[in-house]
Amino acid sequence: MQLRRVGVLGGGPGGLYAARLLKLARPSCDVIVYEQGEPGTTFGFGVGLAAGTQRNLAAADPDTLRDIVAAGCRHDMTMQAGDRVVRVHNDRLIGIARTELLAVLQRHAEKAGVRLEFGARRGAGDVDADTVIAADGISSATREDGDFGGTVEAGRGLYLWCGTDFALADAVFAPAETEYGTFVTHAYPYSGGQSTFLIETDEQTWRRAGFEATTEQTPSDASDLSSLRYLQQAFAGQLGGHALIGNRTRWTRFRTVRCQRWSSGRTVLLGDAAHTAHYSIGSGTKLAMEDAMALVEAMDAEPDAAGAFARYEAVRRPPVGRLQELARRSQLWWESFPSRLHLPVEQLMVAYMTRAGNVPLGRFAATNPEVLATALGRYAGLDLETSQLPADITSWVLDRPLRHQGRQLPCRVLAPGSFGIKVLVVADVVGDPWGPAGDAVVTRARRAREAGADGFRFTGPADRLSVLTRMDLAERVRAEAGGLIVMDGPAGLRDDLAAGLVSRRADLVSFTEEAA
Ligand SMILES: Cc1cc2nc3c(=O)[nH]c(=O)nc-3n(C[C@H](O)[C@H](O)[C@H](O)COP(=O)(O)OP(=O)(O)OC[C@H]3O[C@@H](n4cnc5c(N)ncnc54)[C@H](O)[C@@H]3O)c2cc1C
Repeated sequence: MQLRRVGVLGGGPGGLYAARLLKLARPSCDVIVYEQGEPGTTFGFGVGLAAGTQRNLAAADPDTLRDIVAAGCRHDMTMQAGDRVVRVHNDRLIGIARTELLAVLQRHAEKAGVRLEFGARRGAGDVDADTVIAADGISSATREDGDFGGTVEAGRGLYLWCGTDFALADAVFAPAETEYGTFVTHAYPYSGGQSTFLIETDEQTWRRAGFEATTEQTPSDASDLSSLRYLQQAFAGQLGGHALIGNRTRWTRFRTVRCQRWSSGRTVLLGDAAHTAHYSIGSGTKLAMEDAMALVEAMDAEPDAAGAFARYEAVRRPPVGRLQELARRSQLWWESFPSRLHLPVEQLMVAYMTRAGNVPLGRFAATNPEVLATALGRYAGLDLETSQLPADITSWVLDRPLRHQGRQLPCRVLAPGSFGIKVLVVADVVGDPWGPAGDAVVTRARRAREAGADGFRFTGPADRLSVLTRMDLAERVRAEAGGLIVMDGPAGLRDDLAAGLVSRRADLVSFTEEAA
């Protein structure tokens, strides 16, 4: 398309990267980034960039990636539960300070010839340009004032994004059980002397701790110091005497943004302005930068704005939608995390890795055989050495016997008609297992248990998303009502069903017809 002048609203990762790629593709085009903040000031602490993201950035712009990697910090990952810790290797995950990432992107944008204007807030209508790229973040005024069909959905849980002045050895997931309830940290190093400490909790715990009041009392340009002081004590074990540091840090509910359209007239949305994905899958920066690549390619390939924006959206909607669905599952998993703290930590790690259905047991075995061997051993009641890990893990999991009420079932797959256990059939199709429809199933399940049911058989549609959601609902019922769980699903989903067994979402599976 013809490009004379392009204005980019927002100097976050999406806007800066789009500006640089565009200027490299079209040196004669005037590209200006308008950022309301000053250079070197930003919200938040570090962000994580996974191996896949680094591969994509390497393909689009190896120079920028080299500087990002040089400024970043590699780390593995540990999960804590009670006094046990498990570690998994992930040597291509890097953490980087948001300020560093932005400094690298600003430098490379300027090197390509982009003009950066800081310190004034702009609207799409204020900008003299043929095309406006609105990369103005999660609270995008462009989206809110424009015709994009945007929706914003707030999560149930609350989180605080804070940091600390020492580098953790690894990323850490750890709970702190307090007199008010459970707080959980997702913490990771992002430089030689700093770490992000993200802390989340449920609404009841937040209220009991008095944080509703401290949130209200905290001015918008300050940090909630009462919460930081309390949490510093609660996470003293992980902080090792260091302080929790705020940067306009206050309790927030994660907001998932979706839009029916990503463009309107000469304006196109990019990154968080168009869509967000829960922080627990660490993908917001990735999505914004990958949007930038696709948008610039489309602008280069198509003769006009309408064609370019349609192409950009057609390319980006499927992967964004997939990640938003993964993120939705991950968000629900973390919001219900305290209910899993009774699990042995290796099984908890497997539950975490398989929570959204994107890491099969076989892939996890390839990178972390010791952890999986211990988790499988605990599932089967055996001591399993890494050298004894089966080649076909799914079949091994399904073939384990189950003792129930003094009887031994030969394996975890229920043959039709072989069932002498009294179960209630649950056929509810529930979108959010922890929402009101899930509450109703739990109430019914408790009554059924009081009336003598041994457990529950969860049945319903055979497509993958329905089966995964059914397992989440089953897991909740298992935790809150007890009893044996039988999960219906097609043999084509045996990997997912096996992961559900090891993660204690179900006890038995029953194969049904494949999805049509
Ligand atoms: C707690 C938390 C943890 C996260 N962790 C990770 C992680 O580990 N990995 C990861 O990839 N992502 C992570 N993210 C997500 C990530 O921060 C965002 O998805 C990413 O920054 C989106 O980039 P963006 O360029 O679209 O928007 P932003 O980074 O939000 O940038 C938007 C910019 O626009 C500016 N702006 C807004 N309005 C105007 C205006 N009218 N005029 C001028 N300037 C304006 C803002 O000042 C801002 O600089 C996390 C997010 C949260 C909340």
